Amino acid sequence: MLSSKALFRMALLMVVLYACGTSQPARRNVLSKTSPPANQQPAENNGRNPGQTTFTKPEQITRQQQKTEETRKVNTAVERRQEEAATVTAAEAKAAGYRSPAYYRYITDSIQQTSAKSAYYKTTENLFKQMAVVPNPQNPAINSRWYTTVNFDNRKPNFVILHHTAQDNTEQTLFTFSVTRTGVSAHFVVGKDGITYQMLNEYFRAWHAGKSKWGAVTDMNSCSIGIEIDNNGKEPFPEAQISALLKLLDYLKDKFGIPQANFIAHSDIAPVRKNDPSKYFPWKRLADAGFGYWYDSANLAEPPADFNALLALRVIGYNTAIPADAIQAFKLHFIQNDSSPMLTDYDKKVLYNVYKYY
Ligand SMILES: [Zn+2]
Repeated sequence: MLSSKALFRMALLMVVLYACGTSQPARRNVLSKTSPPANQQPAENNGRNPGQTTFTKPEQITRQQQKTEETRKVNTAVERRQEEAATVTAAEAKAAGYRSPAYYRYITDSIQQTSAKSAYYKTTENLFKQMAVVPNPQNPAINSRWYTTVNFDNRKPNFVILHHTAQDNTEQTLFTFSVTRTGVSAHFVVGKDGITYQMLNEYFRAWHAGKSKWGAVTDMNSCSIGIEIDNNGKEPFPEAQISALLKLLDYLKDKFGIPQANFIAHSDIAPVRKNDPSKYFPWKRLADAGFGYWYDSANLAEPPADFNALLALRVIGYNTAIPADAIQAFKLHFIQNDSSPMLTDYDKKVLYNVYKYY
């Protein structure tokens, strides 16, 4: 017969065991109200953003955002400029005129507050719900019980596609991406003044590449980050803008392990259909910093007699279905001042040199 002390110990042990059992995370029904918030991304949980707040409703986010903006200290010159640019009154916008930066800033701020932010979180929530369903009820091939793996994380972008906006100012682009009717977007917008805006979490698919192909990849939006650089296509890119871009590229390369070869142009993946960024874009400077490749101008060797230029373009990634278009796209990127669809002897040397990096 057990002593009362032994019985007490057994009872205590059972309580502890029960408590341990129930302290395991319960299997979550992701469609229920107790699901984790849609905006919760692993990147924000790996210790990089310890101050990150968890939200469950869009209103909480906008409210928190306002609070943060009120209390945030304006430290740097960039932040000061951001603060100044962010406060445009209706009168100032009217005085500045239709389609002016102040006009776009004013209406964009208004759209962001009234509809864009709530739409953003509604979409993320819907996407999260879709991604959480397993097995997919629409998949006719699945005819078994549900077993789940426990080992997974997010798919990651592996390319960075650079664009020029072909618009008049950054404010106009922020507006363009804030309204549904345009159907276009990018993850980042880099202004001439060096101010960089993030409009979409990197794990989501922005709509910037359109019909495009690079190597065997035909859905570039799914595997890339889109960066729009404020530039009308007929002007050089200011130093502040390129410095800001390099800083952003550095961050993305490091965060997602993006290979040097995979920093490319919209014009590269959509030959002739797209011509951005323009011939003024400093690709050599980017390559020198580790983003994309550039030829070694001091060592331009004659290609071998059997050198196949079209095959070399394909090895680099160009869609050579229309050879003249592929050549033109290559030249916009690497020759820049001559966009004719013909390869001169010099162009062939450059191509041979670039191709050897791949
Ligand atoms: Zn583009």
